[in-house]
Amino acid sequence: MRQLKRIATILLVCLPCLLPLASAAGVSAVYEIFTGSYRDSNGDGIGDLNGIVSKLDYIQALGVDGVWLTPVSPSPSYHKYDVADYTDIDPDFGTLADFDALAGACEARGITLVFDLVVNHTSSEHPWFASAVESLQNGDLSDPYIDYYQFTQGKGDCPVEGTDWYYAAGFDEGMPELNLDNPAVREEIKAIAAFWLSRGVGGFRLDAVTHYYDAQSQSNIDFLEWLDKTVKEIDTEAFLVGEAWTDGVTILELYKSGIDALFNFPMSSTGSLSKAMRSESGQSFAGGIVAWRQDIAAVNPDAVAAPFLGNHDQGRISGVLVLDQQMEKQAAALYLLSPGVPFLYYGEEIGMTGSGDDPNKRLPMLWSVTEQTGVCLPPEGATQAQRLQTGADEQENDPDSLLNFYRSVLEFRNQYPLFVDGSAEVVETGDTRLGAFTLTDGEQTILIAYNFSHDEALFMPSSGTLLAVFDTGDMQSEQTDGGMMIAPRSTVVWALP
Ligand code: CA
Repeated sequence: MRQLKRIATILLVCLPCLLPLASAAGVSAVYEIFTGSYRDSNGDGIGDLNGIVSKLDYIQALGVDGVWLTPVSPSPSYHKYDVADYTDIDPDFGTLADFDALAGACEARGITLVFDLVVNHTSSEHPWFASAVESLQNGDLSDPYIDYYQFTQGKGDCPVEGTDWYYAAGFDEGMPELNLDNPAVREEIKAIAAFWLSRGVGGFRLDAVTHYYDAQSQSNIDFLEWLDKTVKEIDTEAFLVGEAWTDGVTILELYKSGIDALFNFPMSSTGSLSKAMRSESGQSFAGGIVAWRQDIAAVNPDAVAAPFLGNHDQGRISGVLVLDQQMEKQAAALYLLSPGVPFLYYGEEIGMTGSGDDPNKRLPMLWSVTEQTGVCLPPEGATQAQRLQTGADEQENDPDSLLNFYRSVLEFRNQYPLFVDGSAEVVETGDTRLGAFTLTDGEQTILIAYNFSHDEALFMPSSGTLLAVFDTGDMQSEQTDGGMMIAPRSTVVWALP
């Protein structure tokens, strides 16, 4: 292969579509934002909802059509996964009016807002819990809020001061577990969902679904089924994605609930994707994602996969891939061109770093290395500095940047809704380093092939028209008489007749 001048991506087909085409799931690619670290609009150093509004051009140019906000409701913590008031906005992040403005701006751009629904537990500062505790301390067992939680006498996770009562709290003492069997609690959850749907939310990310009923798989499925039905009775188009940080078998079981998607945790972070990259096992990786798509379809034909590289609870993928930009580009192409609705974690698209304690995984978005306006202060408890040396502004002007690679792949992907919910089949390559599969929606079929090796590798598609090449390094994939010589760690896509 000749060493040609460095061209990151050649797009042979470029339809004039800024917005992704609609898919059956209603959303095609979602961007996860921790609001407090994204963009500060008022100079207090904390990211806020108005800051997100000011960056919607950037978000839309990335090529996503969904934004998942980690919790934004009032909470005593910086991360806000312990909610003290389900129908308001934390003053750190803004006001309900700001939320309405964000929802309106998203709607005008065709961006679906995905709200983080945290109903496994509340904050210990929630008025329901405060009332229950006070009543128990007064010996008044008639308080209906006592049955909102899981109080037991004699033993339990956390003691209620001054009593022999205890309460269940799987995460920590500040997060008492709700009693999801109580019809009154379910009515509250229904009202919370209705409240946010009425304010323009288009879907929910469901926090900690395996903890609803710890170690009781069927109860979790039943509750998710109720939640799915309840939300879709209010809005049939709502999109529900569940967080089950567990093995593939358990995740597949949860797909029986009817929710639209569950995050593919086994593929993320240090899981199967980065492992396959390291061992150059392209064939087995392709086999894995095809099997995952087929397994989901067998459980629920309307459900989709939700591939991702990392989220706010995981060390950033750039660290997993030892800050090797070629590997970061390959990882991006691999999951963005996988079946399902991919979820991008803010900053991933520019290669931000962060690992260890949670605040380090949620460091401020690096908009620019020179311009500090709007850049947030690190969250409480962060101990690491950002190791990335070029911000989003600088990368916009560099055609070889990671940011522009993400944009190219997403722009291409958005032309083909079958990436979300098409049927997948493995294509044999005869080379363990080469993975290949087809996706079809019955009318259109595309073939995706990638080279996991650090050397070039030859792949011969049986037929097809070349659609796109996503090269990740200095070498360029090349059509030869013997087939397509795929550059190291690069991806090629064809349309099949
Ligand atoms: Ca602010």
